[in-house]
Amino acid sequence: MEEQCCPHCKTTKYRNPSLRLMVNICGHTLCESCVELLFARGAGNCPECEISLRKHAFRFQLFDDPLVDKEVDIRKKVLKTYNKREEDFATLRDFNDYLEEIEDVVYKLTRNVDVETTKRKMEIYQRENKDIIQKNRIRLSIEHGVLVEGLEEERRGTESRRLAFHEQERHERLEKHRQHQSLLDELEASQLPAGLLLTQHRTRQAQSDQQRATFQKPNPLQAIKVQVCMQPPPRCEEVLFHYEPLVLENFGPSAPEAKDLDHLGFLKQVRVASAQEVGGGYSSSLACHRALQDAFSGLFWFSLPQSNTDMTKTESNSGTD
Ligand SMILES: [Zn+2]
Ligand SMILES: [Zn+2]
Repeated sequence: MEEQCCPHCKTTKYRNPSLRLMVNICGHTLCESCVELLFARGAGNCPECEISLRKHAFRFQLFDDPLVDKEVDIRKKVLKTYNKREEDFATLRDFNDYLEEIEDVVYKLTRNVDVETTKRKMEIYQRENKDIIQKNRIRLSIEHGVLVEGLEEERRGTESRRLAFHEQERHERLEKHRQHQSLLDELEASQLPAGLLLTQHRTRQAQSDQQRATFQKPNPLQAIKVQVCMQPPPRCEEVLFHYEPLVLENFGPSAPEAKDLDHLGFLKQVRVASAQEVGGGYSSSLACHRALQDAFSGLFWFSLPQSNTDMTKTESNSGTD
């Protein structure tokens, strides 16, 4: 990775470990102190490209390449205008063309290609699609609201399950303590032998444990999380994949199947795999099967199509020469 360096004051990360680079809309970097110095009055010109910038628009560089930061910014802005969705188009092809157009705009604005033309194009688009842009913005904010509400609901659910779990635990602890205390009282007051009292106590405890296990709800903290999904299920219009077994043409007699190798006696002809080889995934039947396939393939003569035959002829001629 190239070392970070402020292009203005030439400070590097090596010389100043606390160096933090910032970027603005033009995509040129400056270190924190240069921003403070050059934009002390709140606005100023970029030392690289001279366009006027505001101090509050500077933010810390997130990516190694400041161009990526610039692109992220531009994309965010462009998508506010180009906010149509797939359902706004008649065909998937139209939608894909639209996505392509967005990429085109983002690319041109990021790389400073035809900036003025692109900006004019965006303005025209915005004027022509004012209603739909507005409608989609509202729809987006509603969806965002629903999503936030869903997350909040989930948080509340988790919290209440946690509380219920703790309450259950506390109740069990109290019950155990009560039983223990009653055993001590009995031992003190009763005339019966201690061993008998202890056995009675254990039986009672086992019964209540069993009862609890029967009526106990599953651990609320482990309850299955229900995913909140606001999106409609995706449409699947593709034809499902249908598997067809592979047919191998070997131009020879078919080799015996791997499962028949043993009783046909082929395996006697190959070395038995050692324990280490078996551990490594090797099996002698696999190797034997491969060798048989190799040996059997290409044993039958077959005629090639005309053009190929000519070629073979010339080849064989040159071979005999
Ligand atoms: Zn600097
Ligand atoms: Zn600049």
